Amino acid sequence: MKSYRKELFFNIPSRRGIVNITEQVQEAVDESNVKEGLALVNAMNITASVFINDDEGGLHQDYEVWLEKLAPEKPYEQYNHNGYEDNADAHLKRTIMGRETVVAITNGKLDFGTWEQIFYFEFDGKRQKHVLIKVIGE
Ligand code: ZN
Repeated sequence: MKSYRKELFFNIPSRRGIVNITEQVQEAVDESNVKEGLALVNAMNITASVFINDDEGGLHQDYEVWLEKLAPEKPYEQYNHNGYEDNADAHLKRTIMGRETVVAITNGKLDFGTWEQIFYFEFDGKRQKHVLIKVIGE
C-alpha cells in the first residue's frame, strides 16, 4: 500500500473565509501516484474546518448567516472560553462544520458526487493555519 502526506498552509486576511481546495487535493493525489484508495483532508487547527459542498456564493453567504445564529461572534463576554479569548465562536463553528472529510480515489481521480467540492473554512483568521492531506491506497 502507498501512503502520501502533504500539508497546505493558509493565512486568511479576514476573521472568516471559505477557500476551494479541490485542485490542491487532486494535486496531492496526483503526487501520491495512488489510483485506487482514499484521501483524508483535515484542518489541523481547532478553529477551522474542512467540508464538502457546492461552490456557490449564495450558499457560502448562507453558511455565514446560519453559523452566526448558532454561535454568534459577539458579544465576546457571552462565552467562558479560557476566560479571555475572543474565539469561542470559532471553536463552536468548527465543531458544527466538522474537522475532516474523506474522498474515494478511483482511477487516480477524486470520486465526487454531483457538484461536490472540497473547502477550507476559516473561523479565526489573520494567522497561519494548516490542513493535512493523507492519501492511502494502491
Ligand atoms: Zn480558543
